[in-house]
Amino acid sequence: MPLPEAFDYAEPDGMGLELGDQVAAPLGPRLLRGVVVGLREAAGGNRPLKPIEELLAEPRLPPGTVEFIQWAARYSVDWPGQPLAIALRGARAPKPRPVRVLEATGAQPARMTPAREKVLAAAARPLSPADLARAAGVSSGVVKALVDEGVLAARLIEADASFPPPDPARPGAALNASQAAAAGALTALLAEGGFSVALLDGVTGSGKTEVYLEAAAAVLAADPDAQVLILLPEIALTQAVIGRVAERFGAEPGEWHSDVAPPMRRRVWEAVAAGRCRIVVGARSALFLPFPRLKLIVVDEEHDASFKQEEGFIYHARDLAVARGKIEDAAVVLASATPSLETLRNAEQGRYRWLRLEGRHGEARLPDIELIDLRETPPETGRWLSPPLVKAMGETFARGEQTLLFLNRRGYAPLVLCKACGERMTAPDTDSWLVEHRYSGRLVCHLTGFSMPKPKACPHCGAADALVSIGPGVERVEEEAKSLFPQARVAVFSSDTAFDAREGKRLIEAMADGQIDILVATQAAAKGHNFPDLTLVGVVDADLGLRGGDLRAAERTYQLLAQATGRAGRKEKAGRALLQTWAPEHAVMQALVAQDRDAFVAAEMAEREAAGLPPFGRLAAVVASGTDPVALEDFVRLAAQSAPNSPGVEVYGPADAPLGLIRGRRRKRFLVRADRTVDLSAYMATWRARMKPPASVRVAIDIDPYSFL
Ligand SMILES: [Zn+2]
Repeated sequence: MPLPEAFDYAEPDGMGLELGDQVAAPLGPRLLRGVVVGLREAAGGNRPLKPIEELLAEPRLPPGTVEFIQWAARYSVDWPGQPLAIALRGARAPKPRPVRVLEATGAQPARMTPAREKVLAAAARPLSPADLARAAGVSSGVVKALVDEGVLAARLIEADASFPPPDPARPGAALNASQAAAAGALTALLAEGGFSVALLDGVTGSGKTEVYLEAAAAVLAADPDAQVLILLPEIALTQAVIGRVAERFGAEPGEWHSDVAPPMRRRVWEAVAAGRCRIVVGARSALFLPFPRLKLIVVDEEHDASFKQEEGFIYHARDLAVARGKIEDAAVVLASATPSLETLRNAEQGRYRWLRLEGRHGEARLPDIELIDLRETPPETGRWLSPPLVKAMGETFARGEQTLLFLNRRGYAPLVLCKACGERMTAPDTDSWLVEHRYSGRLVCHLTGFSMPKPKACPHCGAADALVSIGPGVERVEEEAKSLFPQARVAVFSSDTAFDAREGKRLIEAMADGQIDILVATQAAAKGHNFPDLTLVGVVDADLGLRGGDLRAAERTYQLLAQATGRAGRKEKAGRALLQTWAPEHAVMQALVAQDRDAFVAAEMAEREAAGLPPFGRLAAVVASGTDPVALEDFVRLAAQSAPNSPGVEVYGPADAPLGLIRGRRRKRFLVRADRTVDLSAYMATWRARMKPPASVRVAIDIDPYSFL
């Protein structure tokens, strides 16, 4: 509930409440689920308290989880109910349904055959009819006949409620000297115990995963109850890491993200709370799971902006991971090939332990990176691939090797306009262009998900067949690649095609297996995957990220392109990366070609320091939105006047947000800049308490914003 703090209730005699208990409590006429966040003796008191209705037969949240939830709410200047709702997501999911398994009754079949013998041998452990037939390698008819004869009988059991314990003693991967040194330093740091943060810093392909899995092994071996959390920025990446964890420890970890079915989520949540599930691999919300004994948190690809949750409860999972580590007295490992400036600053200052992995794993070399100056060698009209890139693709295909074309733009074309009247197709209630998707034949708003069929005539002037597609998306580049290389197998990987984890996994496996010659991909494929025959990466529009113009535009572009180009040449084969750009002189492009991350970071740090921007200063945003423009205008004017005066804090705005209209709501923004020494959360909480938004206005506070739209 949107309440600023917890309410007080009386504990009925004999209920025996403890911190973290889930209870049913009255609120007005309703009965709601709540969590006990504090207990105290009430000596008399000046008002009677309503009693707690019931202690629910649900797992208790551990003290560290309760403390973390309250800390997260205070830090993010939001209601404690918001992070609590995330923490209880698993507890509110339906319980897994029991499954039907077959067991031998002891009766002998009238007639024994080799197939029947196999089934009876496989029935030594309880399996579903389908699994039993598969395990025995027989048809389902054989199994059914044995049931009909009474040799096998069905029984209902709880869907496998156990997580087998991980075995840290299994042999790990062979480490090279650089990996072994980093793993040794990390294990020594973990052996000291308590809270610490380490930055595991190594180029793509240097083998960071093996290193942090050794750290996890050390933690699991040292304490038979210890729990480990591995956070990843994207669901598509979790599958690969789950496989590596299962291989290393001989047991599947718990999986946690929005694609996990609710009953399975419930199962993971309960097993984590009971301490039975000791390794979890998941997306950002896994940070709110009720770990009773969390000893290590790994944040893989820590620089990734996907760790920032932008809607509902606004938080950055990397920053909250460090906070949770501190509360739990646990170690935190941040891993990246291109760490964020915030993390690098902490490492430079000695607050984080800095472990650098030198070179690539095995024989692999970093790819050669070259710029293609589009002013000198532009693509033909209506095409997006320049002659030098097409030539390199042809050579790569002729050698039987793979090409990755990278374009961080979903769909077919980012803009559709009418050539008769110039009308741009925009979403009806949002300030955004509609993106054409050829596969689905629809125009889609990527912001809100609104979509409509592509009209035959211009809705503005009525001209028939006048709507033209402007600019490239991955589908259009795929079309061009197919027409250039008709014999090649071309596929698209984007969050539209890889709509779920399984489809994403299938495409990644097909690529790894050499069944695809040319993969056209958005950033979803730029991260973490290994494709041994991939030797050419072509970046279709290297300047795309630089046009956003926000604080982190250059940093994010550098990170994304370094990740994308790092895909090439993972094994013995040399790799090559070609970047198509209109601005080859830009610092980001020059740093990429020189493969000089340190020079780029130094230049970017100097600019941020001069402006007092993160990581040298702090930022917060206030976004007010409303359906009534007059009420919104009045509100932001009053809000501006009520901003507290405080040394070291500057408030800018209100201004129209660059996205001035989303889902029919007008939007206004404030930006707050503060010195590092200022308690920005406390400042924002004071300001928020003074704001009195009318019912039609919503206010969202974003500490350390990543989006400036
Ligand atoms: Zn028109």
